[in-house]
Amino acid sequence: MTHNIFDYFKKYENVPNGAIVKEDMLRLGVSFAPEVFEHVDGYLLKNYNLFASNYDRANTGEMVVKNIPAEIRISSSKNKILPTIVETRYSAISPYKITYDQKGFKLLFKEREIAEVEFCKRPKYHNKQFKDGIKYKDVVALVHWGYKIAISVVRVCSFNKNDICKYCDINTNLKFRTDSNKLNIDPLAKLEYVVPVVKEILENEQIEGSRTLVYGLTGGTMLKNGKSIEADIYSHYIKKLKAEVGGRYPVSVTCTAQNEDDLWKLKEAGLDVYQCNIEVWDKQIFHKVCPGKSKLVGHDKWVELLKKAVDIFGEGNVITNFVAGVEYSKAYGFSTMEEAIQSTTDGFEYLMYHGITPKMTSFCASAGSSLRNEPIIPLDYYVQIAMNWYNLWRKYLLPPVRNHGPMGPGRAIEINSTYNDIGS
Ligand code: SF4
Repeated sequence: MTHNIFDYFKKYENVPNGAIVKEDMLRLGVSFAPEVFEHVDGYLLKNYNLFASNYDRANTGEMVVKNIPAEIRISSSKNKILPTIVETRYSAISPYKITYDQKGFKLLFKEREIAEVEFCKRPKYHNKQFKDGIKYKDVVALVHWGYKIAISVVRVCSFNKNDICKYCDINTNLKFRTDSNKLNIDPLAKLEYVVPVVKEILENEQIEGSRTLVYGLTGGTMLKNGKSIEADIYSHYIKKLKAEVGGRYPVSVTCTAQNEDDLWKLKEAGLDVYQCNIEVWDKQIFHKVCPGKSKLVGHDKWVELLKKAVDIFGEGNVITNFVAGVEYSKAYGFSTMEEAIQSTTDGFEYLMYHGITPKMTSFCASAGSSLRNEPIIPLDYYVQIAMNWYNLWRKYLLPPVRNHGPMGPGRAIEINSTYNDIGS
């Protein structure tokens, strides 16, 4: 890895330095000096979440699962880095390393200090468990520095091995977590556990410098007789949750594209924010990278159903995610970075014009996915695509991506892309 991050600060002087470092850490991962693990008590550690998002989990086993801080906040007055929150993607060979000394945690880039580091405090609900031994922390996760309750309702994907999205590790992650940690994680989260934990967080949790304001239901595609049954499952959960926690906190669902009847079913159940992720704009690459989604719904229909969803949920309440960078993967993507950026930017523009809010998750060649051996996507791609997203978002005067926190450097809390960290 020959690049020098300090050169990128000069190259992209209109982009916040924190956003540049964040994208670099997302694409390259981060390692930890051994002494860090002696001081991580009291912090939020990586636990079961739908996707593992680690680069070399398989080689590091227990340590990664048990002791890795889940989220990292970097800042530096010397390097003009405003507080910037990053998802931890573990990689033992990353040029980024977190160390510890008496002054605290530090982030090094190729052994040179670049920023101070804080970790998100361990939430109080992590200390609780049900009478049968199920731990609250294994029922739902608190993410984005405590801002969002992430409820992984459907912890598996019904697509067969060949049809699983190529970047996705949902099924291998569940298997790894349950096998290696003897965790009792049901493929379908049980409402009798979910409801009390969500209530406990909304009523009693207080993460320093943050508030829990939203909750979201998500999971893999759930099929019965070849048809999605996600609307039935999520409607049931939404009704029960809203009956218990009221309407103060908006709820989102992330699912496969739903037909019009099912969109209404979700709306009538009380859903506030509908998210169905198209992941890739180019139709042919979508077909190769997301074969299950392509066969079940198809690219054109996915887009039409997103537009229909705007009529039902209203502008600003319909989101679609892109796995940014996968359209430039060696295995399935464009051969040049410029084509990849142009294609995805065209997608952003089309969707924003129609009142749909696209967002991004930076591609992670996760150890449990088919694309685990992909070469690393260039940092320029990530900086330029985030800028393009931001400029189009301004052009179309859309609201911030709902349920994904505030925007702007020093304020954003979205952990796995920088589209929210750009601007002023
Ligand atoms: S639809 Fe694709 S991204 Fe979603 S869980 Fe299934 S394989 Fe993973």
